[in-house]
Amino acid sequence: MRWLMILLLASCSNREVEELRTKVLEQSRAHEVACDLADRVGARPAGSEGDRRAVAWALARMQELGLSNVRAEMVKVTRWERGAEHAEIVSPVRQRLFVAGLGQSVAGTVEAEVVRVGSIEELQSLPDERVKGRIVFYDKPMERGPRALESYASAVDVRSAGAAAAAKKGAVASIIRSIGTGSGRFPHTGAQRTRDGIPPIPAAALAIPDAELLARLIAAGEEVRVKLSLESTLHGEAESANVIGELTGREKPDEIVLLGAHLDSWDLGTGAVDDGTGVGAALEIVRLLKAAPPRRTIRVVLFANEEHGLAGAFGYAKTHQAELMKHQAALELDLGTGRALDFRWHAGPTAEPVMHEIGEALEPLGITPAKQDPDAGGADLIPLGPAGVPKVDLLQDSTRYFDVHHTADDTCDKIEPDALAQLTSAATVVTFMLAETPELLERAPRAK
Ligand SMILES: [Zn+2]
Repeated sequence: MRWLMILLLASCSNREVEELRTKVLEQSRAHEVACDLADRVGARPAGSEGDRRAVAWALARMQELGLSNVRAEMVKVTRWERGAEHAEIVSPVRQRLFVAGLGQSVAGTVEAEVVRVGSIEELQSLPDERVKGRIVFYDKPMERGPRALESYASAVDVRSAGAAAAAKKGAVASIIRSIGTGSGRFPHTGAQRTRDGIPPIPAAALAIPDAELLARLIAAGEEVRVKLSLESTLHGEAESANVIGELTGREKPDEIVLLGAHLDSWDLGTGAVDDGTGVGAALEIVRLLKAAPPRRTIRVVLFANEEHGLAGAFGYAKTHQAELMKHQAALELDLGTGRALDFRWHAGPTAEPVMHEIGEALEPLGITPAKQDPDAGGADLIPLGPAGVPKVDLLQDSTRYFDVHHTADDTCDKIEPDALAQLTSAATVVTFMLAETPELLERAPRAK
């Protein structure tokens, strides 16, 4: 074990890593690349015209960088298009509500009494006759803060599964307090799932101040009636693509460090921080490493349709099944523009010294020591789990991220260039060191 540790720890010099860290902090243009995607392509929901332009944009960018094996790997997605949307309180007062349909919501117009619940569990504890014919209002706030991701993860079930649960109990529509933070009046859209055998009902998110208005009226004992009207078109199956390009490894070209981000975005904003920043950072990392490529290949994968069903991620895992054992590790950048705070990893236990060494190299960037975490890894890396591909993660300060997440406010001006440069520098160090370590890491145990 000891000789192995010495071998692993001798993989790259401290000076080399230090120079790289500084170079990226000084030279990263991730901010400009992200804004170029946001401003010149704009919204790019899966299967849309914007999505097609994003694929062309990414191919051109990768070719410009001189990456190898640049290609678009086609995947099938479901294309859904938002139409006109309107909501208002009709009694006891008339008030307009700012609303956005959730992804793939059915169209429809309903007017009914609102029943407020704090969770799916609370809804399920109500007798069916309290829900039948009514609009279910899920009022489940998330907490704002640097590590808001955790709060997001525990609140998001009402967005993804709330409408199906409400439909099952006979509700005519489902509205949620936006899963997000801040006090802006833009609603936060996002994915939701229908369930087989339950006819879907209109599903929408209210802007946070509007959800609070509704909650205050209900808390005052009022019987509140809301009218909700959503138009949308489900176009059915469409094509999208994962866009892939490589910086070929100088010694082990068939071994891969996967550096991912997602190319699609929601339709309301321009996808600058979700996930333009991840795309910008990934492309800058390979640009800045190009002068001296590491031992292994760095494969940039810009995933299709992360936002509604992970079609790109599942497509990638299937297409590349045979080479997953040669994936050294995978990192996805998909948490906006904030500074990296924590480094997390999930791999076999013998990977610990390597991860510890990477953690030490991240310390000057203000990142907490490496920690093993079976939940490490972005959403697009989920399908790599069964093959045991080691995953690494840089948890970013998401204090402001969830203010704009999935809203019309996700635009270029929200990017914080210095914070993004720090993230890009950290991700470069992680990617480079994983690509440089002599041995392949032990595969990750299957997550529970
Ligand atoms: Zn995202």
